[in-house]
Amino acid sequence: MGSAYSYKCTNSECGYENTISGGKDCGFCGVVESMVCLDCKELMNVLTAPAPDLKPIKPRCDECKGQNLKKFYPGRTGCPKCRSKMKQDPDSMVMWD
Ligand SMILES: [Zn+2]
Ligand SMILES: [Zn+2]
Repeated sequence: MGSAYSYKCTNSECGYENTISGGKDCGFCGVVESMVCLDCKELMNVLTAPAPDLKPIKPRCDECKGQNLKKFYPGRTGCPKCRSKMKQDPDSMVMWD
């Protein structure tokens, strides 16, 4: 079972937000990590080790299938659209799977 939070861009003119785990997480489909696709400029959870054998695979963007991905570090990685700070919304926890 994985849990995820909503991350919001602190730049009100941008307003980008997405729900991600904010790091490594484990769910029904395998191990996921939060990453930014530099091509789509999207923040997303990317599968890095699919179940059931959990062998690491090369992460791919869900949208463009590209591998131009950068790990997301909460508090350090900026908004993929405008590079402003991203803030976790602590009330937004959701369970996925
Ligand atoms: Zn992409
Ligand atoms: Zn932004």
